[in-house]
Amino acid sequence: MTTHPNLCALDAGHMASLVERLGWPSYRTRQILQWIYQHRIRDIAGMSNLSLMDRETLGREAVMERLASPTLFQSADGTMKFLFSLQDGLTVESVLIPDGRRLTQCVSTQVGCTLDCGFCVTGHMGLKRNLKAHEIVDQILTAQDHLRPGDRISSLVFMGMGEPLANFDELSEALTRLTDTEWGMGFPKRRITISTAGFSPRLHEVAKLGVNLAISLNASTSEQRARLMPMMNRLHPLPDLLAACRAYPIPANRHLTFEYVLLQGENDSADDAVRLSRLLRGIRCKINLIPFNEFPGNPFRRPEDPVIAAFQTILRQKGYDVFIRHNRGRDVLGACGQLGTLPGRTGAESLSIGP
Ligand code: SF4
Repeated sequence: MTTHPNLCALDAGHMASLVERLGWPSYRTRQILQWIYQHRIRDIAGMSNLSLMDRETLGREAVMERLASPTLFQSADGTMKFLFSLQDGLTVESVLIPDGRRLTQCVSTQVGCTLDCGFCVTGHMGLKRNLKAHEIVDQILTAQDHLRPGDRISSLVFMGMGEPLANFDELSEALTRLTDTEWGMGFPKRRITISTAGFSPRLHEVAKLGVNLAISLNASTSEQRARLMPMMNRLHPLPDLLAACRAYPIPANRHLTFEYVLLQGENDSADDAVRLSRLLRGIRCKINLIPFNEFPGNPFRRPEDPVIAAFQTILRQKGYDVFIRHNRGRDVLGACGQLGTLPGRTGAESLSIGP
């Protein structure tokens, strides 16, 4: 087994150290990083502005290992789900969602999840492990490889498998590589959203990253949240979360986003809508309603359309911007809450069952 470092796994500092150790000029660090993040090459031989001799030297000192080609699932609505096999045999998923001229990628930060939200397939898996920064970034590099020439991913949401703020250091390093304009992928920070299930003590650290913040709230009372998101609510109860949201320094022209998965007979009543409006009073925000995406073995059901519309209307009458998130990619289990492997099934089997 090779002990040579994987260039894709090195941060900019370690890359500079490698370049220095090879006795090369410092600008070579930028060149190598640009090959990885801007040109998305897969091997050292492709670094054509390095001499053949330098490429051979680099090849003796390091390897370049991107994630293996993913298995691709194409939904009838245009959504693409990528199933990546990691080097240790685990798998992780990412979803590319077209919406008019926009193309949003939902990115994973963990294999499985420590949390146990009752409406989520990933939560049923338990946590296998955190993803490394390069495994996070590679989901985006690879998705970009699969686009038609000229197409670009317009926004990123860290809302796939896992709780992003439970893997903060690797997420933060991944964001550096995604947003750096000199050598990285150059994504504008305002087009990146981190979605948390409510890690309130870490919200101030997200503020420093300069990206958008979404909070997966899903309940209008503490009791309800304790039922739906037991572990997160135990760790960071609803009042603490709302206090952290109120203290969050929202930049001018931006807002927080609250996600609310609508579950039939659980949190979808008119009283819930009114209580939710009171909870969020005074916070500059918009609300995304996500009608539950059903999956086998789960007791929750999607509310009827008139119930969803009535919930939206009440919140709108209270002055909120409220959007209903259309279910995309349900036929490939790529919709919100559907990523991951169901108990007793392999990843491929989970993928083959329709909602
Ligand atoms: S909803 Fe998010 S935080 Fe909750 S179990 Fe699923 S992946 Fe984890």
